[in-house]
Amino acid sequence: MRPRHGRRRTVDTDVLVIGSGAGGSVAALELAAAGRSVTVLEEGPRVGTAALAAAGPAENMRTLYRNGGLTPVLGTPTIVYGEGRAVGGTTLVNGGLLWDPPPALLARWAAVSGIDGYRAADLAPHLKTVAARLGAIVQQHGGPDANRDSRLLAAGADRLGWRWQHARRVVQGCLHRNRCTTGCPTGAKQSMAVSYLPRAEALGARITPDTRVLRLLHDGRTVRGALATGPDGTRTEYRARAVFLAAGPLGTPALLQRSHIQQRRAGRELALHVNLRTVARFPERVDAQDGTIFTAQLKEFGDRGILMMPSNLSRGALAAALAGRSPAEVTGYLDDYDRLGVYTTQVRLHGTATVRALPGGGQLLRHGMTAVDHRALVEAFRIGSRLLLAAGADRLTPPVSSAPPLNTMAGVEEFCRRVRPGDWELVSVHGMASARMAQAERGGVCDERGRPHGFEGLRVCDASVLPGVTGISPQGTIMAFAHEITAHFIEDEGTVA
Ligand SMILES: Cc1cc2nc3c(=O)[nH]c(=O)nc-3n(C[C@H](O)[C@H](O)[C@H](O)COP(=O)(O)OP(=O)(O)OC[C@H]3O[C@@H](n4cnc5c(N)ncnc54)[C@H](O)[C@@H]3O)c2cc1C
Repeated sequence: MRPRHGRRRTVDTDVLVIGSGAGGSVAALELAAAGRSVTVLEEGPRVGTAALAAAGPAENMRTLYRNGGLTPVLGTPTIVYGEGRAVGGTTLVNGGLLWDPPPALLARWAAVSGIDGYRAADLAPHLKTVAARLGAIVQQHGGPDANRDSRLLAAGADRLGWRWQHARRVVQGCLHRNRCTTGCPTGAKQSMAVSYLPRAEALGARITPDTRVLRLLHDGRTVRGALATGPDGTRTEYRARAVFLAAGPLGTPALLQRSHIQQRRAGRELALHVNLRTVARFPERVDAQDGTIFTAQLKEFGDRGILMMPSNLSRGALAAALAGRSPAEVTGYLDDYDRLGVYTTQVRLHGTATVRALPGGGQLLRHGMTAVDHRALVEAFRIGSRLLLAAGADRLTPPVSSAPPLNTMAGVEEFCRRVRPGDWELVSVHGMASARMAQAERGGVCDERGRPHGFEGLRVCDASVLPGVTGISPQGTIMAFAHEITAHFIEDEGTVA
């Protein structure tokens, strides 16, 4: 429907959900199941499984990721941030790993935020529902020759007496195509696009892709809808009794700022995990491209916020990991391709980043990594190197382009002494807490119902509302919080017949 000249189109709905990722999909399904008319607005496109399979990984990177997966977080060093921008949000391109938040983490958040009601006992039923709906399984290694990169990680950990675990993933009939992070080509990974969202649609929810929300509409106290722009530039005013904001850890604080809702606090404390990528060469064939993203994760140092796992290997991913190296070096690595694994060591940062909405769209991100963080990165690299050498690697390429490859612990120690904060080449795919839930006097943006302090009619229910950094893959925690926030809303309003 085109608007008449000079007039905006208007759409009425009970509930408007902004963003169709891990958080927004929960709200859409639960609200539709409770009898609400639900409209979901999603900035990115809708891409089905057949289209994901037909396009190559490089094309899917461009289509499914914000800024093609290359959003810079400025600072020393600049960090490359990746998040999804499509129906299903980042779950369309994530690893499908689903961990429950540790009870001690939730207890710590309650103490720091001053908000109860999100402890292990409160979230347990939601975590059970999420796991059941998504079909969470313990992912075993694939066929006898698959996932050798994960098997090597497990073997190295066993040699050192370190704890590792099979991955807990949301996959149904994984065919080990090794394309999780560019969109599962078989539909096995249970992203929101093939799980929660189709169920919500079956219950009447309307999903509107290619539609970007520009700002929320309110009178200074009560949010009553949002103004959005569609693919042809048409502006539509969506009027709703309630708005659920789930535009992700960057999009949500940016929209709050653009709408003058908690604009000073929103986006002030984006918490990040960062990844160190080490390319390891082994004397034998690894064929790391055979098998799903990974089947084993090092857990020994999880309480220090350090986890390690292989990542999907492809020639493109390898070239990205080696982007700063000389052409001759890259050629050498490609010659050794069958003997390589790319390993990710994930570190929880202490220093936070800021998100600032830019005029006309987009966000400016800056981080303030601290000396503590640099020491944690050094320690994480040391741990990862020890493990890979114990697993039999004969060459390690650290995520610092100016550093030569390493093959002994003495070399690793020398690297650790010399590396400077600005040298690291870091990637992040986990952002959170940028509109965190905490009492107002403790610096919180949202209250215990997910409402930005001082506002009615709006609930935040995505990664940004988490009270802090998880230290583990966040999807399970985000979905459990979204369930609890939505359940409170339905309870407060009463179920509609
Ligand atoms: C490569 C990769 C691997 C990962 N692997 C894992 C894993 O294995 N396990 C795990 O737990 N986590 C993983 N994550 C992280 C996890 O997927 C995210 O933390 C989670 O999806 C965040 O949920 P969310 O609802 O906050 O945001 P998202 O899922 O990112 O959804 C937000 C949606 O809002 C839309 N949006 C933004 N702004 C607007 C706007 N103005 N108008 C309309 N729509 C808008 C976006 O396009 C997006 O689709 C991974 C992430 C990446 C990038």
